[in-house]
Amino acid sequence: MILIDGLRAVATMDDAGTELEDASILIDAGVIRWIGVGRAPVSQPPEVLDGHGLVAIPGLVNTHHHLYQTLTRVRAQQGGLFEWLRELYPVWATIDADWERSAAEVGLAELALSGCSTTTDHHYVFPSGVLGLLETEIEVAAQLGMRFHPCRGSMDLGQSQGGLPPDSVVENRDAILAATDDAIARFHKPESGSMVRIAVGPCSPFSVSPELMRESAALARRHGVRLHTHIAETLDEEKYCQKTFGRRPVEFLDDLGFLGPDVWLAHCVHLGAPDIARLAETKTGVAWCPTSNMRLGSGFAPGRELLDAGVTVGLAVDGSASNDSGNLLGEARQALLTTRARRGAAAMTARDALRLATRGGAACLGRDDIGSLQVGKRADIALFAVDGLAFRGAESDPIAALILCNPGPVHHLFVEGKLVVHDGHLVNVSEASLIWA
Ligand SMILES: [Zn+2]
Repeated sequence: MILIDGLRAVATMDDAGTELEDASILIDAGVIRWIGVGRAPVSQPPEVLDGHGLVAIPGLVNTHHHLYQTLTRVRAQQGGLFEWLRELYPVWATIDADWERSAAEVGLAELALSGCSTTTDHHYVFPSGVLGLLETEIEVAAQLGMRFHPCRGSMDLGQSQGGLPPDSVVENRDAILAATDDAIARFHKPESGSMVRIAVGPCSPFSVSPELMRESAALARRHGVRLHTHIAETLDEEKYCQKTFGRRPVEFLDDLGFLGPDVWLAHCVHLGAPDIARLAETKTGVAWCPTSNMRLGSGFAPGRELLDAGVTVGLAVDGSASNDSGNLLGEARQALLTTRARRGAAAMTARDALRLATRGGAACLGRDDIGSLQVGKRADIALFAVDGLAFRGAESDPIAALILCNPGPVHHLFVEGKLVVHDGHLVNVSEASLIWA
């Protein structure tokens, strides 16, 4: 039993947006048992963690990533998506399990240090004969103590078939489907509090055949797991879909049965009003990646419009080759700033941005047991110190300050009631070993 006592403030992110001051949180067996103002009543002496000078928010939820890209930062610096991909595919074709381990360690560590307790990963590069890629990242997430939703991604449309990737990085459709079945059977845990859930993630319209998209959706639905892909990221992609299928990207997915409450889609930058209405109607989620979309010059996703239409929206850092970092709290700030640049200062509040990064992310991943700090929810809690230099002058609203100021790394991070970050450092892995490995 752990009591986090004397918290400066708590943003619970419950439906009512309840916020508390001078509060405490009692954790037992990975679950929040009590949360409120003052000290939690306890029947036996708990382990106490001093919360003075700290703000508690739900652990952040990252809805799109490519961890392997962490080792290929600052490449193709002036390239848009297609140019950038063409330069990087041959580099990624040399991936192996050692690469995956180093990249996942660094990428997941960065996320954890930004307050992220749950992340997905969209791994879609499986060069022929290379084994253990998905297994390795699942192992690393468990080692760090993070909640993990890896997608068994895929590409089957190489250049010789009219796709964008070289043939050396695509797989055969039957092999993909068999490997996906196998990943679900071995790793997927559907229960509440689950630390690993597998999703099915064919990569994009220009690297996957429509047949594989259709069969991936059928496979995911047979197993009751979630579906993920990239869509409507750039104007080049829109042109490709119009030329190849005579459909806009979201219409193309709709034709394939690839929309629905069990689907969340990365990017959704180039959407028309009918696309937004269709995402809302089908209860399809969106992983909004502001930094990546700006880095590649793709544009600005209509986050505000999606929220106003009732679409489920989460935030994501995207792969580190198109973000060059992995700070999810920083991504919430980017979402707020880009929205305000497009729509004015009233278009998004700091609390809206925090809600996207917590409740929105949890909803994208189909989880109702995380994303808010409430009795009975899993104890995924990010605690930020607000008594340092960056917060001097921001004392009147320490919760908004997490988005509007520069909070630096998380102070403590709990996942499933266990400390993953303590005093600003990883608990289960040595940071020095990640840098010099
Ligand atoms: Zn991506």
